[in-house]
Amino acid sequence: AKQGGGNRIEFYSTEMNEQTLYRLELEGYLRKALEKREFFLCYQPLVDVQTGTIIGNEALLRWRHPKLGLVKPDEFIPLAEETGIIHEVGRWVLVTACKQTKQWQQFGLHPLTISVNVSASQFQQPDFVDDVKRALSQSGLEPHYLNLELTESSMLRNVHYSTQVMKELQQLGVGISIDDFGTGYSSFSYLKNLPINVLKIDRSFIEQLHKNASDIAIVKAIVTMGYGLGIKIVAEGVETEEQVELLKALRCHYAQGYVFYQPVTAEEFTKYIAVSH
Ligand code: C2E
Ligand code: CA
Ligand code: CA
Ligand code: CA
Repeated sequence: AKQGGGNRIEFYSTEMNEQTLYRLELEGYLRKALEKREFFLCYQPLVDVQTGTIIGNEALLRWRHPKLGLVKPDEFIPLAEETGIIHEVGRWVLVTACKQTKQWQQFGLHPLTISVNVSASQFQQPDFVDDVKRALSQSGLEPHYLNLELTESSMLRNVHYSTQVMKELQQLGVGISIDDFGTGYSSFSYLKNLPINVLKIDRSFIEQLHKNASDIAIVKAIVTMGYGLGIKIVAEGVETEEQVELLKALRCHYAQGYVFYQPVTAEEFTKYIAVSH
């Protein structure tokens, strides 16, 4: 029995060590990723549901490490947040996405908006608004083309402070989107009091839309509310024609998903617009 117990303890501790080691290794790599230029952005178009026209892009961060390969954001963003690395990376994402969008505008195509994901700890940083201003001035992008995607939890972490920051951003002319809407601690009071331009309905409400009456009712209610409040509604993770038809019927404004476009690199997107332009 003693031996078995010993083995078990050893088994757990080995596993824990391996996890800790992997984390430390990942953290070390993450710290160097920016200077080694291992990050890049992919862009996924947002389309007008009724016409299918591209109205903007969302910037999605990618990390390609020589040894680990392509690491998913869901795997490294939480670690980047815990370690504070996200602040520098977030600044890089902001300025890179703004510069790219300005370049596409200079390319002559009709101006697109750019949506940038902002993590909770990045948003709560005292110099966040300065970072946004700097990205705008360095890129020359007009503020109303930039949307910042916040989550309910990052906004509600410190409501008083968040309200202040969001009002400053609104004064700058930058748009604010609420990401993954419906999955956090949704509260109607913030929709009334905060300067919000866009709600992005989480993919979990869209996935079963064609066979779930509750999802239809929820999406319908959010869209109706959007018209009433003057907030644009985006459906996330749209994968089928059936879903598109339903969203059209529900008069949802915008949508994003594999049925329209996959996230692609800036080069691929440039090639694409050059052809269709
Ligand atoms: P998100 O902001 O909710 O982004 C949507 C995710 O859904 C993206 O995953 C996108 O590639 C994926 N997606 C798009 N269309 C479809 C679809 O039709 N079906 C399905 N199943 N998925 C679809 P991705 O790129 O892996 O990003 C995951 C999350 O990582 C993002 O979720 C966002 O929270 C975070 N993230 C990405 N880039 C950044 C960044 O620059 N900064 C911060 N702070 N977070 C980021
Ligand atoms: Ca997002
Ligand atoms: Ca989302
Ligand atoms: Ca998400």
